[in-house]
Order: sequence, then C-alpha cells, then structure tokens
Amino acid sequence: MPLNISSWFSPTTKACPICGRAGAPAASPIAIPIRHPEPRKILSSLCAPCRKAIPWISNPVCRICGRAERCEDCTRRQQRNYTVSRCAVRYDYLMKDWLALYKYRGNEGLESILAAMLAFAYERLCEYSPQSHSFAAITSVPLAPERLQDRGFNQAERLALQLSRWYGLSYRPMLLRLRHTEKQSLKTRRSRVVDMRGNFSAVSSELFSHSSTLPLSPAAPTAASTTPRIILVDDIYTTGSTLEECARVLRQSAIPEALPEIYGLLWARS
Ligand SMILES: [Zn+2]
Ligand SMILES: [Zn+2]
Repeated sequence: MPLNISSWFSPTTKACPICGRAGAPAASPIAIPIRHPEPRKILSSLCAPCRKAIPWISNPVCRICGRAERCEDCTRRQQRNYTVSRCAVRYDYLMKDWLALYKYRGNEGLESILAAMLAFAYERLCEYSPQSHSFAAITSVPLAPERLQDRGFNQAERLALQLSRWYGLSYRPMLLRLRHTEKQSLKTRRSRVVDMRGNFSAVSSELFSHSSTLPLSPAAPTAASTTPRIILVDDIYTTGSTLEECARVLRQSAIPEALPEIYGLLWARS
C-alpha cells in the first residue's frame, strides 16, 4: 500500500493535546457549544472522544451557583455576597485528571484548553445577565504566597487573563490570600465556612474609592445602572465558601455608593 505522506502534514492528523490520539477532523459532528471563535478553535484540536467526554453544564438546575443537580448548599445559605455563579463543567473523574495534568504536572498546553472551556461558562453568565458589556472588571481567587511559590503560577489567574483577552474584559488583581486552609473536602461543611474568614483581604481600597480613575468608580454613583459588576474566577466550586468569602471581602472594601455585584465564574462544579 502506498504511503499517504501528505496526510502526515495535514492539520487533521495533529495529536490530541490531552490524550495524544489523532485529532478530530475539522468538520467533526461533535459540537463545541461556544460562540467566540478563539476558544472554539482551541477546543477543535481535541480528538473526538475527548471532545465528546466534556461534561458541559448546559442547563443548570441551581440558578444561583450553576450546578447541574439540586443544590443543598444554596438552599441552606441565608446570606450571599455574590449574585450568581456559572460553571463550565461537572467535576467528574475525567475533569479531575485534566485539571491535575495542568495544575500538578505543568502541562501548559492544557491551560488554553481549560480557558476555552471557561469561555462556555462566561457565555452562559452573559445569557443570565444580558447587560454583560457593563462588567467593570474580571479578577481571580488568589493563592497563598507559599502555594504560589510551590506551583509557580495561579491557575485561576491564568484562566481569567486568557478570558479577559478574548472578551475584552479588564483584568485586575483585587484580592490577596493571607493564608491557606487545609484541603476542604476533608472537613465538615461548618468548619469550612468558619475557616475561610480572614483568609483574604482586598488588594487596595483605592480600587473602590471616589478618587480612583479605574472604571470601578462609577461616574454617577447613585444611578442603579452604574453598579460595578465584577467577575471572580476560580477553578473549582465545591461548597461556594471561597467564592462567598472573596465576594464578601470585595464588597466590604467598596464604598457604599458603588457596592459591586460579584459574579462567580468557575471552570468546574463538584
Ligand atoms: Zn483526546
Ligand atoms: Zn446552588
């Protein structure tokens, strides 16, 4: 049988960046549920089985946190500092593997894939909140300094930066993490909520002051339409206590006339 040398150089035979199998043909029947061409292009490099296995949360059952199932945490929570959150995928075993490949084994190719998946959650958030052009800024949940030193990067920040470029959002670091608590899954819900207190502080009250030239300072602070709306990015939503505490700190450091609305944007919902 003659060798089909041209196929070696064809873009359709590029290896899948996740599993290494031959990539999906450009006209794969497996739809990518994202409108923006850049993340679409990135996800089209995945092979058909990987593309098919992504557990998108297309129709969240919980309208608050964007979970695919009924959600006890949101029902129970009496006070909430964030408006809503949206998550791109369910955190299943495969997604655990993908995140671990990126976070702990430094597979850099995965960064743009995860960011492209986060674009799905962003577009769903815009559907929830059609005045999305008025998002004043996008920020991310910070890592504690020693964590950052160990890993070398903050995954939430990287994903948020990528997203800010695609959608023309203004990225701003707004929070500091003062300490890191134990792995959340090992604790009861109550101790998780308590532990979050004091973990974060706002970068600078300047961000929210009257004199600031940043877009977070609305021109007419009394008008309801000028409420600054901020997107807060993190990789995983487990109980929502990290998101809640970050939102609380951000709102607490704002001037009352420009109290921001915080919107959570997460890659996966466990
Ligand atoms: Zn693959
Ligand atoms: Zn919920």
